[in-house]
Parts: sequence; C-alpha cells; structure tokens
Amino acid sequence: MEITLEDVASGLEKEINVSRRENCEVCNGSGAEPGTQPKQCQQCKGTGQIQHVRSTGFARFVQITTCNVCGGKGKIVESKCKNCRGSGLVSKTRKIKVKIPKGIESGSRLRLSRQGEAGGQGGPSGDLYVVVYVKQHKIFQRSNSNIITDIPIGFTQATLGAEINVPTLKGKVKLRIPKGTQTHTIFRLKGKGLPRLHGYGRGNELIKVIIQTPKKLTSKQKQLLTELAKELGETTPEKKGFFK
Ligand SMILES: [Zn+2]
Ligand SMILES: [Zn+2]
Repeated sequence: MEITLEDVASGLEKEINVSRRENCEVCNGSGAEPGTQPKQCQQCKGTGQIQHVRSTGFARFVQITTCNVCGGKGKIVESKCKNCRGSGLVSKTRKIKVKIPKGIESGSRLRLSRQGEAGGQGGPSGDLYVVVYVKQHKIFQRSNSNIITDIPIGFTQATLGAEINVPTLKGKVKLRIPKGTQTHTIFRLKGKGLPRLHGYGRGNELIKVIIQTPKKLTSKQKQLLTELAKELGETTPEKKGFFK
C-alpha cells in the first residue's frame, strides 16, 4: 500500500482488494460432493506416506516417500464437489480493512491474522501481510518524527523582520522571522511533525529559510538599493545597466 505523509500524520483506515483462495463453502474445503465423504487412501492407509523397506544382510533401510495415489493427503475424493472441482478451494476477491497506525515508517509490514490464503483441506487460513510505503512529499522531507522543509524569504524580510505563512501537514501557520535573520537559519515549529510510533507526542517541523536575492530590479528599486549600499558603505559597480 502506498500512503502519503499526511496519512502518516493522522493515521488511516483503508479498504484494499485482496485476491485469495478460500475454503469452498459448499464442501467446507474437503473437495467431496456434499453428502459424500472422502475415502481413506488404500495405498497408504490414510497416512499420506509410504515406507519402503530394504534389507541388505543385517542392515535394514527404511525410506519414506509421499503417497503417489493420494498425493500425501491420505484421502481420496471419489465424487468431486462441483463448486471447486474437488480442490476444496475457491478464488475470491475480498475487501479488507487495513488500519494504519499513526507515525508508521515506510517499508513497515502489517500482519492481518487469518486473512491470507486458505490452509487447504478445510484448515485455517494463513495471515495477510501488508507492506506500507510512504510516498515522497512535494515539500517535506522526513527524519524519524521530524519533517523538514526549505522556505524562500525576501532579503528585506530577513533584514527587517517579517511574519510569513508557512505550510504544515495540517494547513498554514504563521512564523515570525526576526530582523537580521541569516540565510539557512532553521526555525522549529514544536509538535508540527509526525506522531511518534512508539512513544508519546509528536516530532517537530523544521523550517530552513533561504534568503532570495532579487534577479531583476526596476530602476526605482535599483536606485533605492544603490542609496542603501552607499549608506552601508558597500561598493557597487558604477557601470550603467549592470542590473539589467
Ligand atoms: Zn467444494
Ligand atoms: Zn495415499
């Protein structure tokens, strides 16, 4: 099953289609037509095995093989069930509810008891294993219960401080960028990560801000920045048209 990071955050219950063999409901898995019984195999006396004894002098060798008449079942179906043609099994596609716990790791295997293939000869069914994969998220990387993302901010926002909207797994929240923030600074949104699978509470969301340098400027912007550069005592190229 493939799930999203949002599913990991909230947990989910989903129905999946599973094709499996089940015991035939007409003959209860015996393979014999209702009203008849499978007969004991004469060849192996119902054991499903045949002993071959070989004597050489004082030594006796016993070899055990599967009975070739009944195929090891010990029983022979004389009048076969019409529903399953004597196999005792029928193919069915079932909708099965799978409950995925919050905080699940990608590649985890969930075991659904007795939801697998029929045991054969009316025996109990085996288990169904569901392997869960978490899809790559568009913006978040996962690190255990933490989620990490890069957010671009303007250089004036970083310089003067700002309040920006940032994404979380459950909608947007406000994040205050203090004045004088440097690029690659990491902000932590406590508890906005993923639930811890074997523990309490949630991980955090880590936001790395990337300061954007404008690539195109209007002449007004260029003029303002040149003034700022002078004020800061930074040197700028004098050539006309440099910013274009
Ligand atoms: Zn049957
Ligand atoms: Zn036999």
